[in-house]
Amino acid sequence: MFLACIGVASCQTQPAAPKAEAKLVGAKGQNPYYSRTDTTKLHVSNAEWKKVLPESVYLIARTKSTERAFTGKYWDFEGIGTYFCAACGNALFRSDSKFASSCGWPSFFEALRPNAVKYESDNTYGMVRTEVLCGRCEGHLGHIFDDGPEPTGKRFCMNSIVLDFEPDPTLKSK
Ligand code: FE
Repeated sequence: MFLACIGVASCQTQPAAPKAEAKLVGAKGQNPYYSRTDTTKLHVSNAEWKKVLPESVYLIARTKSTERAFTGKYWDFEGIGTYFCAACGNALFRSDSKFASSCGWPSFFEALRPNAVKYESDNTYGMVRTEVLCGRCEGHLGHIFDDGPEPTGKRFCMNSIVLDFEPDPTLKSK
């Protein structure tokens, strides 16, 4: 199953630097809910989120839109560090759980902490899927599937737009 998910193109692609604006999406001071240290759960209306989030982040996090495959900044990115929620700053994934997937979206086999994310069943578009939401702001992140690699067998299929990557040289390379 794992091999079926590996894309030749993604395996051979060299690590690319994220676009400059990617690092600070949602963290430019106009979003008072963004914090990488405060883990208090947020209960913020969509009307309020719309005022403080970049439109691209709002569309995915709050209206469950999906970025087009192979267009996001992280699907073939191999930097060493941590991925935070672009809406609220919650730490979500580490690069050591990221794997090359041919699906066109950044893919991880486990969350940074069990409660970093939460799950809801999603039966839209005639499919039975499990939605992954941020554990702090409940923003939509993507979906989770059972065709990931060991040790979990899970594939967190995420949208790059709702992730903020921060390099962390203290984390080991895979
Ligand atoms: Fe969040």
